Amino acid sequence: MLLRDAVTFHGHLCPGQVLGVRMAMAGCRALGIGEPRAMGKGLVVFVEIDRCASDALQAVTGCSLGKRTLKHLDYGKMAATFINAVTGQAVRVVARDDARDRAGVYAPTAADPRQAQIEAYRVMPEAELLRLQPVVIRPGWLDRPRVRVPCQLCGEGVNYGLEVVSEGLTLCRPCHAGAYYAPRPEPPGVRLAAVGRRRQAAGL
Ligand SMILES: [Zn+2]
Ligand SMILES: [Zn+2]
Repeated sequence: MLLRDAVTFHGHLCPGQVLGVRMAMAGCRALGIGEPRAMGKGLVVFVEIDRCASDALQAVTGCSLGKRTLKHLDYGKMAATFINAVTGQAVRVVARDDARDRAGVYAPTAADPRQAQIEAYRVMPEAELLRLQPVVIRPGWLDRPRVRVPCQLCGEGVNYGLEVVSEGLTLCRPCHAGAYYAPRPEPPGVRLAAVGRRRQAAGL
């Protein structure tokens, strides 16, 4: 049932869907949450990877970026932390790397490794598939102030107190530490055309 919802949301059945559903089930159970999608903003998930399983976590929990109940941290790890926002209780669920190697044990007749993972992750005992770690969420990660200040370098607004004050300047993180993007250099032809247009406009 949960898996069917995940596959509908994600678009295909894959090992990540099964793994994500198992992670969500384990995390919610550890927090005593039976109906995650009925929790509204009471359940928050920090997901540490953008991969197939991330969609399954979203489908099962109903958490989303837009509701601010899903946070993506680009750690590149198949792990997610489930937080009961009311009690503050939190559990980090990590997919065990060795589960992949043992998939064949639980699906000996599978046609290929991918199919073996899909079948095995459905039936593998939780302790062999996942590691659960009770955690506390550090201050500032969940309850961010509803404020917006402009960056003094680029002028763009920064929400939720995520600005950085450095050497007396209030800056956005990209201006402070470098962005993932850079302005695209214009190809030479475009540059010459722009010069021509400027000359024309100036009456030269
Ligand atoms: Zn997938
Ligand atoms: Zn900036």
